[in-house]
Amino acid sequence: MNLAYVKEMMLFTAEKMMESEPQLTALDQVIGDGDHGIGMKRGFTAVKVLLQDEKFQPNDVGDFFTQVGTKLMTSMGGASGAIFGTFFRAGGKSIVGESELSAKNLATLLKIGCDAVFQRGNAKQGDKTMMDALIPAVNKAEELENETVKEILPELAKAAMQGAEDTKQMIAVFGRAKNLGDRVLGHADPGAVSMALILTYMDEFAQQH
Ligand code: ADP
Ligand code: MG
Repeated sequence: MNLAYVKEMMLFTAEKMMESEPQLTALDQVIGDGDHGIGMKRGFTAVKVLLQDEKFQPNDVGDFFTQVGTKLMTSMGGASGAIFGTFFRAGGKSIVGESELSAKNLATLLKIGCDAVFQRGNAKQGDKTMMDALIPAVNKAEELENETVKEILPELAKAAMQGAEDTKQMIAVFGRAKNLGDRVLGHADPGAVSMALILTYMDEFAQQH
């Protein structure tokens, strides 16, 4: 996938994330403070504006994702602004200089982005955060890095969605959900659903184009 393709894919993803606001708000109203949908919508609206700005001329796909991350970090606020911003910034930086997004590059982006989120927030698999969607996607990407991006995106989206679904069985370790104890059981973590949706929309675009 070249830079122009990646840009169209992420524009589609940004628009779909904006549309997902009610779903994410509803989830965060159950186990958090209800602001996750608004935060994601604000962040991806800013990303959409960035991508449509003719002055936005990233050097390569790594620079592209780094700038997307910076935009999320500076526009979203909240825990997830720092988390999703860090993910795309660190992931993007790890593939700076790459003119194409290959499956191998995508695996690197996901892995290094995931490591950076861990450095920042210390959440491990099972702590009921976006890491529970991200880690299975990282593992799947590393396993399939010799395929094409188009071939692996359905697998990554599926792994992340299953990871988000699995958060229903987890007790939270972070944020407001932590205080709710076992009352969070049966409810998915909003950040994990966001992470899974991002990969799902990237896949949706890729299968159509
Ligand atoms: P806030 O917690 O400030 O209200 P949001 O509601 O926007 O922020 O985001 C909450 C989401 O952030 C959670 O659903 C979870 O997935 C994610 N999250 C919270 N803490 C961490 C952490 N330490 N590491 C990774 N993700 C986290
Ligand atoms: Mg919240």
